[in-house]
Order: sequence, then C-alpha cells, then structure tokens
Amino acid sequence: MTDTVLDRFLRYVVIDTQSDPSSSTQPSTEKQKDLGRILVEELLEIGLSDAHLDEHGYVYATIPANTDKNVPVICFCSHMDTAPDFTGTNVKPQIVKNYTGGDIRLPGDPNRVIRVCEHPELKNQINNDIITTDGTTLLGADDKAGLAEIMAAAKILIDNPEIKHGAIKILFTPDEEVGRGVNKVDLKKLGADFAYTMDGETAGHIEDETFSADSVDIVIAGVAIHPGFAKDRMENAIKIAGAIIDRLPKEIAPETTEGKQGFIHPTGVAGSMEKAAISLIIRDFTNEGLVEKEAMLEEIVRDVIKAYPGSSYRFDVKEQYRNMKVVLDRHPEIIENAVEAVRRAGMTPVRGSIRGGTDGSRLSFMGLPCPNIFAGGHAFHSPLEWISRQDMEKAVKTIVELAKVWEERA
Ligand SMILES: [Zn+2]
Repeated sequence: MTDTVLDRFLRYVVIDTQSDPSSSTQPSTEKQKDLGRILVEELLEIGLSDAHLDEHGYVYATIPANTDKNVPVICFCSHMDTAPDFTGTNVKPQIVKNYTGGDIRLPGDPNRVIRVCEHPELKNQINNDIITTDGTTLLGADDKAGLAEIMAAAKILIDNPEIKHGAIKILFTPDEEVGRGVNKVDLKKLGADFAYTMDGETAGHIEDETFSADSVDIVIAGVAIHPGFAKDRMENAIKIAGAIIDRLPKEIAPETTEGKQGFIHPTGVAGSMEKAAISLIIRDFTNEGLVEKEAMLEEIVRDVIKAYPGSSYRFDVKEQYRNMKVVLDRHPEIIENAVEAVRRAGMTPVRGSIRGGTDGSRLSFMGLPCPNIFAGGHAFHSPLEWISRQDMEKAVKTIVELAKVWEERA
C-alpha cells in the first residue's frame, strides 16, 4: 500500500460516505463506517496503537508525545461524510498532471467544465496536479482531503522522532454535512485542549469565524373543505405557504449576499390544503442579526396570515450553532500558532470567516476551541469539485509545523 497524501486521498474518495439528513440513526448512514474501518487500519499500520472506530462512527487515535515539555494536547479533525447535495456513489477521480492553465473539461459529462472564469483559484495551480471527478459525482475533497492530510502528517510525525511534539489527538467524524458531526463525540475520551479542523479551501487560509445559525420551522394550519363548496370558506395552506415564500426579502438571500452578510433561506416546503410546512435556515455573524432576521420573518408570516382568519401558524426557532470567534478570542495562541505554521510551510497566512458552520464551531462551544485550516479543496458539494496534490502537501506540512510550533512555544 502506498502512503503519499495523494495515494491516501484517491483511496478514500472512491468509498461512498454520503450522509443523510432524513435519517435519525448515528451515523446517519452505515456506509460511513466503511471508510472509518479503513482509516483505523491505516492508523494502526502507521503505529497509532489506540486507533479505533466507535459505535457512533467516530475514529479516535493518539500520536504520543515525544518531548518532556508540558505541551497542550492538540487535536486534528476532519469529517468522513460527503454532502447530500450531490451523489458520491461511484466516484471516478481524474488527474490532470502538470496543469498548463485553461478550462478543465470533465470526461463523464460534456456539460461539466471547470472554467477559469468561475474558479479563479485555478490560476495559482499552473504546473500542479489537479484532481477532479469525471463530472458525474462530487469528489469528496470536502473533506477526504483533510483525512488524507492528517493521516500523511501522522505518518511523518511517527517516522521522524527528531520532530518534537506533544501528544496529538486525531478525530474523524461522521455526519458533519448534516450538522450532526459532533453530536456523539466523547470529548473526555479525546482529551484534547485545543483542536483544528482541516476542512477549509484555499491554501494558506485559516478561519476563526463562522456564521451563527438557527433553523426555523413554520407550520400553517389552513381551512380544508370540499372544493365544490369552498367559496369564502376554504383557506388553502399551500397558498398561504406560497405567499410567505414569495414575500421573503430578495436582498437577504444566499444568492444575493456575501462576506459578512447574513440571510434567510427556505430549504424545504411541504403542503396539503389543510396543513403546510416551510423549513428555513437563518444565518448571520452576530446573534443580534439572527434575532432581527427571525423577527422579520415572523412579521411576514403574521402579515400574510391576516388575510386568512380561519388559519393559524406555528413558528419554531431552533439553535444550530454559533460563531466560534467568541470562544477563540479567549485563546489567541491557537490562531497565532496556526498562522506561524502556515508561514513556515511556505505560504502567506490569510485569516477569514466561513459562510457556514464546521464541526469546529460546535466543538468550540462544547469546550474544545477549534478553528478551521485549509484542506485545499474547491467547489465543494458539486461535480466540479477539484483539489491539487500540491495544496494537499502544503496542508500536510502545515500540520507538521503546527505540531512543532506548539512544542517550541510550550
Ligand atoms: Zn467539510
């Protein structure tokens, strides 16, 4: 078996690990454990003797300390599942060696082209080896790149005892893409002080801010009646739901916002004459922004339903995750050390925020502060997903350097 980061990556992406938001089991799909078992085998082979897969689908392992210094225990995390948005069955990775520039056509579907104009990051990949799919599936670089990078770094740390480091924990999670990646994680067993998810995009990027996120479920009870006798009596819940959706502010939507702007986004609708339900997600970088948007949404519902005196609604807000910056600001060394590691690995560090959540945002609030480091993938959750071997190698280097920086500064 070969063990470069690219070899590992290519081994992992062909294993279907799509998670399923409609499943109530943990992990949401049993097939995620197929990859978990392979990772454990490979960890054992590297020499991490405590590596194991638990019944909830988590992989835990330890790289023992090789220094006398009292170094904080850091953990590297990555998720094993791929997004439900696009199929991950039968992934056929393609390698464009020595990329010379220009658009990349995917062989399995003539309509799928990774265009430079839409993926400007390609311009920084000249002479690199770029991995794509054949266009019929997603690639799963999100986040199998992270898995491969952590595995490759673990091997380097074990094989090179002259690289001094504290105890390092490895955590591979299922179900990140359906927002349940850390539901059953055993932080006590993990025993880490700080963690990093390897789950970002562009090489050199470190993210210490995420959205704050709520979900909203609106359930409308209409007035059902035989359509032949409905005049002035029927209040069709489907139409009420439609009116609410139509009133959602166009300028506060995912398709019209960027940077630090939040949004209101319907993710599902179901209905019959007597009852309709709309699921939405609300995103903002501040709690006040979330509350404001929820109030705005409820005001729309209230206003629409005024025209339907026999109907009523329920409006349920559920907290999903919170911006991790609040937690990370209390431990500035976590980011400072990551910045230094990225620099030592030969890149210019870029700090940013994620328009999304990570396992790390939830871990941070569970007591394990956890920013996000690049893994190198691009165009996540789509058949145009791509990553370069060179960026994965930079991520491996970053992990190794980060282990060294923590030891040096302890
Ligand atoms: Zn991810």
